[in-house]
Amino acid sequence: MITKDEFRAGATAFLEGNAKRRVKASQGWGEGSDEVGILPERTPEEDAALVAEAKVWRAKVFDAGFAWITGPEAYGGRGLPREYDRIFQGLENEYDVPGMGPFGIGLGMVAPTILAHAIEDVRQHYLAPLYRGDVVACQLFSEPVAGSDLAGIQTKAMRDGDEWVLNGQKVWTSGAHYSDIGEIITRTATYPDSRHRGLTMFLVDMKAPGVEVRPLRQMTGGASFNEVFFTDVRVPDTMRLGDVDEGWTVALTTLMNERMAIGGGGVGSGLDLAGRLRALTRHMGLADDPNVRQQLADVLIRHSVNRYTSLRAMAKMRAGQLPGPELSTLKLGLTNNMQRMSSVLTSLLGPRLIADTGEWGTYAWADFVLGVPGMRVAGGTDEVLRNIIGERVLGLPKS
Ligand SMILES: Cc1cc2nc3c(=O)[nH]c(=O)nc-3n(C[C@H](O)[C@H](O)[C@H](O)COP(=O)(O)OP(=O)(O)OC[C@H]3O[C@@H](n4cnc5c(N)ncnc54)[C@H](O)[C@@H]3O)c2cc1C
Repeated sequence: MITKDEFRAGATAFLEGNAKRRVKASQGWGEGSDEVGILPERTPEEDAALVAEAKVWRAKVFDAGFAWITGPEAYGGRGLPREYDRIFQGLENEYDVPGMGPFGIGLGMVAPTILAHAIEDVRQHYLAPLYRGDVVACQLFSEPVAGSDLAGIQTKAMRDGDEWVLNGQKVWTSGAHYSDIGEIITRTATYPDSRHRGLTMFLVDMKAPGVEVRPLRQMTGGASFNEVFFTDVRVPDTMRLGDVDEGWTVALTTLMNERMAIGGGGVGSGLDLAGRLRALTRHMGLADDPNVRQQLADVLIRHSVNRYTSLRAMAKMRAGQLPGPELSTLKLGLTNNMQRMSSVLTSLLGPRLIADTGEWGTYAWADFVLGVPGMRVAGGTDEVLRNIIGERVLGLPKS
């Protein structure tokens, strides 16, 4: 196996040859991009341009062998341990490269589910293109009547020979407007003794006849999510993930990976939030103010605690154990700290948070502050995660 030093040298040579070193926001005021949005305000054209740019970078990284470092070689991965992935992520963070947001759901949730539950042909067909950025995937779980209570979904799939016919509606589907495939949970049967049985998971072609994607505008001004309507959409049985009526098990694989992707620092991790907040405090001449220092110390300490919890959860996974409730703790810790950051920013910036004066690094935080509530809902709401922690970690009676 390639040594870590050899790997690091190869990765550095690739990055030096293909990207520019980034000026970190924390290293200087007014340099580099000041975008800190989690669900930023963008037009569909801006979204499309960013996806196209991200695809070009992703393909280069994949072709150089750095896009699926831990993946099985049989499917186009490099078969290396997680430390190598962390080495590359650490190095890549030093360079000004396109954001990988459009691939977050596909790689964080859908691809691991395909690897675990799809038939061999489907794995061979989709995994490498997903990691290369040629195929983008979305997650079609939530419905108007089923969010936290996912087992209440009503989208139906009826068998018709070697195909299934899908009818129903999904909502809050992030990135559906630029996705090629979606992982969709459907109801295929009703069992009187269990709502979790009778669900079946599929991969659906988002360009298939009968799929209609309509944007939903969020309070940041952008439209990251969509409603997706399915009318007599035909899906081959080969695109089924897992067994018929046993889609709940498949959903759990996706949801565990979702919590890991959000809680493990996937969201906002490339934004250097802690560094930017420190830089802002210094820029405003408040770095010596005892009250501000106290608030800043509070969020920075919690930031570190989350990082260590994430490392602990990953170490557990490396050791072959299943990380369970600590992933819920992690996601809750991360998003609660984002909420604290929002409060600190609101008191630091005052009117500059809501009026664009053109001053670098000030109004840009509005996108962050308006995006945080969404993060507290996505991937398990605060309340639902508290229930899980109460019941599974603390052993309290069921609510
Ligand atoms: C940024 C973002 C991205 C998203 N992306 C996707 C996506 O790509 N694909 C997808 O399928 N979905 C997506 N969603 C939807 C998300 O999964 C749901 O919003 C979430 O599961 C909550 O469901 P809901 O909105 O129906 O709220 P509900 O489940 O109706 O909850 C409403 C309120 O009731 C509370 N509540 C519900 N049940 C309980 C309980 N048992 N105990 C205590 N309180 C409870 C909740 O905490 C919440 O405050 C996204 C959401 C957001 C915000």
